Amino acid sequence: MRVYLDNSATTAVDREVLDAMMPYFTDTFGNPSSLHGYGREALAVVDQAREKIARLLNAKPTEIYFTSGGSESDNWALRGAAHTYQKQGKHIITTAIEHPAILETCKLLESEGFEVTKLPVGRDGRVSLEDLKNAVRDDTILVSVMFANNEMGAIQPIAEIGAFCREEGILFHTDAVQAAGSIKIDVQEQNIDMLSLSAHKFHGPKGVGLLYIRSGVRAGKLIYGGGQERGFRAGTTNVPAIVGMAKALEISVRDMDNDNEHIKAMRDHFIKRVLAEVPYCKLNGGMEHRLVNNANFSFDYIEGEGILIGLDLSGIAVSSGSACSSGDLEPSHVILACGATMEEAHGSIRFSFGKDNTMEQTDYAVEKLKETVTRLRSFSPLFKEIKGEDTYV
Ligand SMILES: *Cc1c(COP(=O)(O)O)cnc(C)c1O
Repeated sequence: MRVYLDNSATTAVDREVLDAMMPYFTDTFGNPSSLHGYGREALAVVDQAREKIARLLNAKPTEIYFTSGGSESDNWALRGAAHTYQKQGKHIITTAIEHPAILETCKLLESEGFEVTKLPVGRDGRVSLEDLKNAVRDDTILVSVMFANNEMGAIQPIAEIGAFCREEGILFHTDAVQAAGSIKIDVQEQNIDMLSLSAHKFHGPKGVGLLYIRSGVRAGKLIYGGGQERGFRAGTTNVPAIVGMAKALEISVRDMDNDNEHIKAMRDHFIKRVLAEVPYCKLNGGMEHRLVNNANFSFDYIEGEGILIGLDLSGIAVSSGSACSSGDLEPSHVILACGATMEEAHGSIRFSFGKDNTMEQTDYAVEKLKETVTRLRSFSPLFKEIKGEDTYV
């Protein structure tokens, strides 16, 4: 059996989405910037996609800017806003658990003289509005808080943060890459000034995303060149990808309740069985404000990578929180921020469910997980030392 439980890393493109995209590779292949019929035809298609997406987010079409994905949108929002508004101040507030696309951009901005405050999170992975209020200074120009976390699924109080920032006159950006398809997004209701999305996280194609920029907000340019995207983001428009993203967002909003119910049933069953049947493990993050597709566990006495490799041998795809950069295995900054120890963070594994998974796969994953954990612990001197040879389960 092959079981894909890494839907927070990427998702399969929906058939319906692929079918919608196909004509724009071959028949209607024009460049929307061209003045002739081929170009005008392509432009009309892109305009339609923009209108559809705007409607789904409760935005205006002129507020939607197409990009290459979540990372580009995050880079653009932070660098653009920071550079545009730096005369009003050089202080930015974000959280300790953001995606690297935000945290690395913040590092760059710090090297340019900006100051960045990273809000802590509780054990449930959520920031507190009190901490945000206390962190605000006279020179705060931008707050960026992710809608939902990619590692342990914590959903942030976005509407409340948005309302607070609006009152204070501070720009509010949210990385909503993990939220799309799972939580209702309404940029008006939630008081969002800028929002990043990426199509491949909700069954659209890779390499396309968007940045919503509320009209009146100036986020400058990230890419210089031609006049595409109202002159703010140069580069020939990726027509099929944009059509695919619009279709994928439409489907995910249309099917959200049904998909969430199906996904949550599998996820809850999985969590219940793992906590009951795998000794010495704990669930990272809380249950109340959590993406329905996410389960993240720390397994004592063993490394996350070992579990990942073991499950992969059984055809099960999961993710370990550690980022393998330059050969070092760094423990997850997100799991650490939620109060885990270094050991717990090293032993953390993310299981992210999707609409194409089944209950049968879920049970198979539990069985294989039990086998893998048991086998790895049988090789662990630490486990034997602490638990004794015979207590091994
Ligand atoms: C995947 C992801 C990104 C990056 O999106 P890409 O389109 O892959 O660049 C950014 N933020 C979060 C929360 C993500 O999960």
